[in-house]
Amino acid sequence: MVKPHFDYIIVGNGLAGLQLALSLSNDAFFKSKKIALIDPDHKTANDKTWCFWEKGTGKWDPIVSQSWTNSLFHTKGSTVHLNFNDYIYKSIRAIDFYNETKSQLEKKDNFHFIIDEVKQLSQDEIVKVIGRNNSYSANHVFDSRIPKEFSQGKTNHTLLNQHFKGLIIETQKEHFNPEVFTMMDYRMQYKNSTSFIYILPISKNRALIEYTFFTPFITEEDVYDKMLNKYIKDQLKIKQFTILDTEMGNIPMTTFPFEKYNTKQVTKIGTAGGWVKGSTGYSFKHTEKKVSKVIENLKSNRLPSEGLISKRFKFYDKIFLKVLHDENEKGPWIFNQFYEKNSSETMLRFLDEESSFKEELSIMISLFSGAFIKAFFKTL
Ligand SMILES: Cc1cc2nc3c(=O)[nH]c(=O)nc-3n(C[C@H](O)[C@H](O)[C@H](O)COP(=O)(O)OP(=O)(O)OC[C@H]3O[C@@H](n4cnc5c(N)ncnc54)[C@H](O)[C@@H]3O)c2cc1C
Repeated sequence: MVKPHFDYIIVGNGLAGLQLALSLSNDAFFKSKKIALIDPDHKTANDKTWCFWEKGTGKWDPIVSQSWTNSLFHTKGSTVHLNFNDYIYKSIRAIDFYNETKSQLEKKDNFHFIIDEVKQLSQDEIVKVIGRNNSYSANHVFDSRIPKEFSQGKTNHTLLNQHFKGLIIETQKEHFNPEVFTMMDYRMQYKNSTSFIYILPISKNRALIEYTFFTPFITEEDVYDKMLNKYIKDQLKIKQFTILDTEMGNIPMTTFPFEKYNTKQVTKIGTAGGWVKGSTGYSFKHTEKKVSKVIENLKSNRLPSEGLISKRFKFYDKIFLKVLHDENEKGPWIFNQFYEKNSSETMLRFLDEESSFKEELSIMISLFSGAFIKAFFKTL
């Protein structure tokens, strides 16, 4: 046995690793388990803002920085007002999440933070974890590292990049309504692609404005800058503003079978486990649900990864991504149909993978078109 040995090692203190660790620490069943979290990063930067929706109050409310119950969806020809009804759209600053989860975990004697980069896992009776600085072992490893086959592009599976740049801007005059956020604004598309503006108003003169693409291609940073400046000046009619902060990202929207990399002793988590919803790129709330399932499985002596991925919803995501990949210019039409023809509650339940078959049928009818029929048969 390699020293130091742990019951569980969590590789990666990101969204999935920290949510998993926190849930393990809050369950008396795991009180006697020795658990390590390994990451080369101290997680001290506010590297993103996470948004998610849920009904009413939730476990993250103490660190929620802002919330909304109304949203707008624009295309060149129409505007849809989306009332979230019982749902609340909430945002969390990543730094608040890192600080809160780390401070709770540091109070527990059985949790150990290790600064190291994991280079390799070798699985035998136990799992040997080879780091840049040291070696460790565990009975089971939860691994956030993305499989090489995916990160090196060795995949025939559908892949779209959800890539974006966001600016937090401040204006002298009051320009924003902090009660209403903009889910998608397609009035300023880039070369007929699925590209839109997303706005989170923070106050009357402060907002996060993001230019986002759902495309097979990626782009240079100056393209986002050009589109953002054009939108702020021409659409929002803001002449003067100060940039307070920026964020950039590329979230994979893919049908890649991450779940195939789970073994008896290693469970892939987060992006690496396929916990990011393929058709939306959202993962905060999905991670919470996957973590609950992992905990339930561990307590029932089942494989931690059992029943984590829904085949039915994965099939819907596959069709959707196929259409968006092959006919990327159709994005504004698809999302317009989706938001205009269905109630917000139905849509959010569908995206949460909690909808009934009747609701899914009504969504399918709203999107009924040659593109979806073609994609359906290709996906079969
Ligand atoms: C700017 C931005 C905004 C976003 N906004 C939203 C949003 O609004 N809502 C939403 O749901 N999602 C959002 N996302 C997506 C979301 O952040 C990701 O889906 C989520 O972080 C994935 O969780 P994860 O734990 O797999 O990865 P991460 O959170 O990236 O964590 C992975 C961790 O693994 C560590 N690691 C990597 N390699 C090793 C190694 N070899 N050894 C040890 N540790 C390692 C990394 O240092 C990192 O800490 C956003 C992403 C970005 C970039």
